[in-house]
Amino acid sequence: MKVTSADIVISAVKPEQYPTEPIPEFALAGRSNVGKSSFINKMINRKSLARTSSKPGKTQTLNFYIINDQLHFVDVPGYGYAKVSKTEREAWGRMLETYFTSRKQLRAALLIVDLRHPPTKDDIAMYNFLKHYELPCIVVATKADKIPKGKWQKHLKVTRETLNLDQDDQLILFSGETGQGKEQAWGTLKSFM
Ligand code: GDP
Repeated sequence: MKVTSADIVISAVKPEQYPTEPIPEFALAGRSNVGKSSFINKMINRKSLARTSSKPGKTQTLNFYIINDQLHFVDVPGYGYAKVSKTEREAWGRMLETYFTSRKQLRAALLIVDLRHPPTKDDIAMYNFLKHYELPCIVVATKADKIPKGKWQKHLKVTRETLNLDQDDQLILFSGETGQGKEQAWGTLKSFM
């Protein structure tokens, strides 16, 4: 897909702030530092439109991006940050629950994981949370450039098995560094639009 425009629309904390355009939307979730911002930036050909995930203490927001006036990406705040307080974690959970239960435009969720390591227990919890809302899931295993090509299939198998992926859920090998997997990811997103 040729991206001709990409902009941040709003950092929202409550539904009244969500954009109202009835265009297809994709939510992106992932552990802090996994490479979610790099994934977004690579997909939209920008160096730094999506910032590195918010650190504890900062307001946790859902960041809406509009691409080609055609679709939204929603950057969900990163999880698995040990220092986040219980109160913050609960607020995060409520915000996500509100979003995932109410958002009609949402077509699928993208779960970003690190190809180098088996998905963590937080990744598994997030995948199960998304499946609980009966959402199609696209799993993006990133940082592929850090693994020799000959080991990609083995690592993908571990990712698929550890998450216990549904038959229908796609698993895409990606690199925010080289752009590997970008066309496949856009192809998959298009199939949901
Ligand atoms: P986020 O917290 O999930 O948004 O993670 P970032 O996108 O900010 O990435 C965290 C770190 O991993 C940064 O230092 C990135 O440069 C690095 N990184 C992200 N994706 C890749 C990738 O595909 N390959 C390599 N080699 N490094 C990556």
